[in-house]
Amino acid sequence: MSVPVDDLGLDGLGRRPAPGPLPWVAMYHSVGDCSDDPYQITVTPARLDAQLGWLRRRGLRGVSVVDLLAARARGADTGLVGLTFDDGYADFVTDALPVLRRHGFGATLFVLPGRLGGDNAWDPLGPRKPLLTADGIRHAAAQGVEIGSHGLTHVDLTTADDALLHAEVAESRSVLAELTGAPVAGFCYPYGTLDQRAVDAVRAAGYRYACAIDPGPLTGPHALPRLHIGQRDTAVRLLLKYRLHRLRRRPVPAEAAR
Ligand SMILES: [Zn+2]
Repeated sequence: MSVPVDDLGLDGLGRRPAPGPLPWVAMYHSVGDCSDDPYQITVTPARLDAQLGWLRRRGLRGVSVVDLLAARARGADTGLVGLTFDDGYADFVTDALPVLRRHGFGATLFVLPGRLGGDNAWDPLGPRKPLLTADGIRHAAAQGVEIGSHGLTHVDLTTADDALLHAEVAESRSVLAELTGAPVAGFCYPYGTLDQRAVDAVRAAGYRYACAIDPGPLTGPHALPRLHIGQRDTAVRLLLKYRLHRLRRRPVPAEAAR
């Protein structure tokens, strides 16, 4: 279930520092057959099921990023893990959603409103994977999945000129808001690449938060680090990632978000 974006506990610039270490946010892409997967973006439904089961046995619960940040603003995020799925593959509805529902977990889906019903043409090696249509995205939203923007067409924002940056960041937000009938709180940087200009554009477009991968000194509410979770991540590796994350992540100073 999504909450109003005003409840995120961020100031007008989205710069309110969150207390304690950064939240744990997992990054998935496609859920399905992973026999041909050169970019290692796919986990099988069975592996996803095992990974979510592992979280649950440790007393953790998967939620959308908007819910995670809202809980954090209330000081009530203990045991919550953000679950994100990038690109908006059609298999999210057929293969990921049933597993999420079985565990009672929420999630955030970052979609590309400029490629509705298209495929992952930006990955030169393939394999081609179909992306959700507008109806598929609305279906996911109706099931309580938070819908965020991954830009319009999957462009590296650090190489985009001003017009393209505006289209990918600001226009994708308004197109998605119209498509889902709800405000769009979250953005996700394609390829995880970002610079200060991209962060500023995302904040200026009205997003309350944005997900990156390993944003380094840009870390903040508009550049949240995430952990890639893949097919090879069994219980032991998940435990290591979880522990390393708790050790490595430190509170974000307010200045870091600028
Ligand atoms: Zn992507």
